[in-house]
Amino acid sequence: MVVDSAFLEACKAWDVRATSRSPFGFKKISISPGSSVTVRCLDSVFITRLMHYIDKRGVICPEEGCSLCSRGDRLATRHFINVLDKEANEVKVLEFSPAVRVSIKEVVEWLSTQTEIKLPSLDIRNYDLKITKMKVTEGNPWVVKYAGNDTVNTDVYTLYDLEKLLIPVTAAETYTIQEAAPVGASRPISDFSEPPKPVIPSIKEVENPLAKESIL
Ligand SMILES: [Zn+2]
Repeated sequence: MVVDSAFLEACKAWDVRATSRSPFGFKKISISPGSSVTVRCLDSVFITRLMHYIDKRGVICPEEGCSLCSRGDRLATRHFINVLDKEANEVKVLEFSPAVRVSIKEVVEWLSTQTEIKLPSLDIRNYDLKITKMKVTEGNPWVVKYAGNDTVNTDVYTLYDLEKLLIPVTAAETYTIQEAAPVGASRPISDFSEPPKPVIPSIKEVENPLAKESIL
């Protein structure tokens, strides 16, 4: 029997896409509201992409010559890191927002003060993180906690080459995408933004309440 391998190879690529629900060819960690997942990071650091969201589909912005930026479509900062899904014992990719990045940073900072937890270093690959998505309608739904430091032999896992998989679309492609998606299709989602900086009025504004008005 002759096997049409090219056809099967093509099917395999699409099967991966279907199961991962990711257009980038990797399995993504997905956390539904009210649930948690425990992961061990397999990269010491995340990589970052600027994304446009067209009808919930992530498009990596080419930055230079991007027609979606030119027409004012919102840009979202997204971070990506290889993780081991501890329950499934499977390598997946955690895609996370700046809000989650801040929560992970707080865990690392907290660990630096915990002398009774014995870690070879603060390297994020040395301990588990439990990531919870709370059922909330407003504000940051993400909670990240330290979840133990059992030994994980990271050598046995094959990581996704994120730099190769997360390639921006070309400037030319943004024109095709733009034609298919009217302005407004790229909906703002608050969790994608950088957390707001605290507003501290400048001395000038305190002295002269009209100063703020004159800026507006
Ligand atoms: Zn853009």
